[in-house]
Amino acid sequence: MQIETITVTPFEQNSRLIIDTNNSVGAVLDPGGEVSRIINCIEKRRINIKSILLTHSHLDHIGGVVDLIEYLEKKQGQKPDLYGHIIETEMRSHAPDIAKAYGLSPNDYKACPEPDVYIEDGDLVEIGSIKLNVFFTPGHSPGHVVYYSEKGESSEPVLFAGDTLFAGSIGRTDLPGGDYETLRRSIYDKIFTLPDNTLVLPGHGTDTEVGREKHSNPFL
Ligand SMILES: [Zn+2]
Ligand SMILES: [Zn+2]
Repeated sequence: MQIETITVTPFEQNSRLIIDTNNSVGAVLDPGGEVSRIINCIEKRRINIKSILLTHSHLDHIGGVVDLIEYLEKKQGQKPDLYGHIIETEMRSHAPDIAKAYGLSPNDYKACPEPDVYIEDGDLVEIGSIKLNVFFTPGHSPGHVVYYSEKGESSEPVLFAGDTLFAGSIGRTDLPGGDYETLRRSIYDKIFTLPDNTLVLPGHGTDTEVGREKHSNPFL
């Protein structure tokens, strides 16, 4: 597995390319916007993108989905499969309105189509030979999921954490459908039970590790 990070938009959201280097196939996680930059990276690496994975459906994570699908369909002659949780349908459709409320251009944050594949806790997502376990981790948003692989870029496991756990912080819980206690429970039950050496790749900010956050995160 190789991972490329493209930090996009004023939200400084970490979009990730997850690449199976043996087969030159991959997935894009949370294409939040500035899709031309994500596309540059895909073209440079010459990867066939089979899937787009969503951790959750806040506009900073879904704003570029439509444009990316349109590009991939043209370029690859095949639409990638979109993966996301069923609960967040309404949130996906409201992205442009919320962008307007933030004073941003709705053209940069388009409404996100419904996923081709609804995922739930315990599902396995395959990208070539890469296997990602799906864990349901609500609290920051009602349908939030994280993706975990026992073997990341090195031999250590990796977690694509979205907006659950950050380096020294946790996701906000004041947005619609958010709940502080639910988020804490998700982190304790689903993330802190992973090996301490699990590399955590959050939706914003720098990478961290499960063990480090267990011992030093002031919110937990
Ligand atoms: Zn969010
Ligand atoms: Zn976010």
